[in-house]
Amino acid sequence: MKFIDEYQNSELAKGLVKRIAKQSTKTIKLMEFCGGHTHAIMRYGIRQLVPKTVEMRSGPGCPVCVTATADLDKAIALTHLPEVIITTFGDMMRVPGSYSSLQQAKAEGADVRIVYSVMDAIEIAEANPEKSVIFIGIGFETTAPTIAASILKAEQKKIENFYVLSLHKLTPPVMKTLLDSGEVKLDGIICPGHVSVIIGSHPYEFIPKNYGVACVISGFEPLDILLCLDKLVRQIENGQPRVEIAYPRGVKPEGNRKALQLMEEVFEIGEANWRGIGQVPQSGLKIRSKYEHFDADKAFSVTLKPAREPKGCRCGDVVRGAATPLECKLFRKVCSPERPIGPCMVSSEGACAAYYQYHG
Ligand code: SF4
Repeated sequence: MKFIDEYQNSELAKGLVKRIAKQSTKTIKLMEFCGGHTHAIMRYGIRQLVPKTVEMRSGPGCPVCVTATADLDKAIALTHLPEVIITTFGDMMRVPGSYSSLQQAKAEGADVRIVYSVMDAIEIAEANPEKSVIFIGIGFETTAPTIAASILKAEQKKIENFYVLSLHKLTPPVMKTLLDSGEVKLDGIICPGHVSVIIGSHPYEFIPKNYGVACVISGFEPLDILLCLDKLVRQIENGQPRVEIAYPRGVKPEGNRKALQLMEEVFEIGEANWRGIGQVPQSGLKIRSKYEHFDADKAFSVTLKPAREPKGCRCGDVVRGAATPLECKLFRKVCSPERPIGPCMVSSEGACAAYYQYHG
């Protein structure tokens, strides 16, 4: 299959593994920011292929996992409002909030529907003009342009019963927060491929410049990731950190201008609440006042009890790279994809789900 097989060639992979091993002399710590990378790395056994000098940690790149419990509680509280339909991606359904989940709310009679695209939510709004249809908008720069396009479409079609609860988050600001905290001393970052398709490579340039940390943007096939590791190890060994693109078939330095314009038109940058990290300035996307009639935060008011984290769950540490899923005492014993305690085990991009599926 074109564009897949050539990135899974085992002979080329062996060559890259040898080259990484040959040039790696010192112990280094890398973080793969994206949950998609965590799954690919675990699935292809890449942690086992690279030398022991290369340690890899998962980061806050799973949208469901980094959604703060308080924000999830708000989404669940919205389901209790009269004449409301909540629409959401499937992964959000089973994530435990402080007192309930979207799935539980649905079981108790709330109208909560899984959609595969935000455009499905618009169709539901058009088909149910007497109801308010709220889309729970999570995700990074990858999904935000589509949500922006949905709001513009609703504006154009004069749909008055469609709302978005915007919980979207931005990648570079949270990278800065993690680096500023110094909790995990990183030498390099495997930068997210899909996010970078949208934002390009320039927004990462402050990282090598201000923190001396190498940055390489990677695709998701095994050769993409090995090539990325090869470049990271070389930069670190040579003491020349910079931003490189190891995914040129997807990422241009300037990103996708059209998608960036869509985001700029509909959203403005504000603070966002991240699980395990807290409020991060300039890391969230809020709906601009021009489109505030689509903003669920402004249109609906709910009363929330204080948020509670699942007891014993270390998802907060996992998303910061401060712990691996194996360091959580509940992993496999109490927490599993069938009975998840925290979001990192629920989400298809969660680190705990990846370790559960592939580790060992
Ligand atoms: Fe949370 Fe389960 Fe992961 Fe532990 S294994 S951090 S309880 S999701």
